[in-house]
Amino acid sequence: MAGTVFVSGGSGYIAGFLIRQLIAEGWTVHTTIRNLARESEVRDSLGVDNTKLKFFAADLHSDAGWAEAMAGCSHAAHVASPLPADKPKHEDDLIVPARDGALRALKAAKTAGIKRFVMTSSMAAIAYGHGPGKSVFTEADWTDPTSPDAYPYVRSKTIAERAARDWVAAEGGDMEFCTVNPSLVLGPLQSGDFSTSLEAIKKLLEGSMPGMPNLGFGIVDVRDVADMHVRCLTAPNMAGERFVCSGPFLMLEDVAAILREGLGPQARKVPKLKLPNWLVRIAARFDPVIGQVIGELGKRRESPPNHARDVLGWVPRPVEESILDTARDMIRLGIVKV
Ligand code: NAP
Repeated sequence: MAGTVFVSGGSGYIAGFLIRQLIAEGWTVHTTIRNLARESEVRDSLGVDNTKLKFFAADLHSDAGWAEAMAGCSHAAHVASPLPADKPKHEDDLIVPARDGALRALKAAKTAGIKRFVMTSSMAAIAYGHGPGKSVFTEADWTDPTSPDAYPYVRSKTIAERAARDWVAAEGGDMEFCTVNPSLVLGPLQSGDFSTSLEAIKKLLEGSMPGMPNLGFGIVDVRDVADMHVRCLTAPNMAGERFVCSGPFLMLEDVAAILREGLGPQARKVPKLKLPNWLVRIAARFDPVIGQVIGELGKRRESPPNHARDVLGWVPRPVEESILDTARDMIRLGIVKV
């Protein structure tokens, strides 16, 4: 199947891989960026058949541009949402564009007669605020956005997915809606402009952390995330579906071991020391970014992608490949000096 598909946030990491795969499979893509002044830079980094790609200006904060970008499309992938490295000044800096942007995209999609709408949500909307004792999560779980565990990004993704599902139930009509819920996304880089999700690998490689906090995350490869979006755009009967999009859960020390094993001397700065939780808690008093994840210390959040395997035939690649491809590209592009 191919036709014309809308993808929001063409400058982003996941959207870039998605656009490349869609064009390689014969689709024409309409994508949005906030400002068309970036069009040629984004085109260069995508490196696709330019006749198959059209850019439109649209911002999650404004109604302008969404209708024009969706016109003529049969399918839509709403990928754009803020993913900052730093703690926002106010949580609404994330929640408002995530939620209102999704609703803007949905309304424009309905007006344009889009048949299938795939939204990039997150494990952040699934696996937080459940209290101690729960470490395995499925599509049936929802983050409690009122929990102290739910930091602003987690709240933004949960509130946005809820709002989107509520809107679709009330107003969506025949448009099929589903979500892809990735864990931490790693994988190859096309340029030095990379997603916040790759920061952990950068910090490990450059040795900028004195040791490793007792933190872990589910990991998934950007190529597999893009592939799940394409499957969701094209598989039959996707209405209401929700897919965990994750490989295994690894602690930072496991990631460090994979880097050492795979990179040899290039991993010389990767720390070996594990930081005790009490030390990280003290550091969090002085660093708001560490403060955001303090509730994560020692937590495990496993999320086997059984549903995606059964319904979509989706199987993630080995996590070692994703970690080492991230690291090798960071070295190749000069993002880290090893
Ligand atoms: P990314 O590279 O930072 O991409 C985010 C995209 O959203 C960029 O294109 C960005 O545009 C756009 N955006 C942000 N604020 C916007 C606004 N106000 N108006 C219009 N566009 C705006 O991050 P990514 O990893 O590809 O993330 C893409 C999606 O995946 C997001 O929905 C994110 O929540 C979700 N996700 C990511 C991960 C992960 O680990 N990376 C995990 C789970 C879910 P600019 O280039 O102009 O900033």
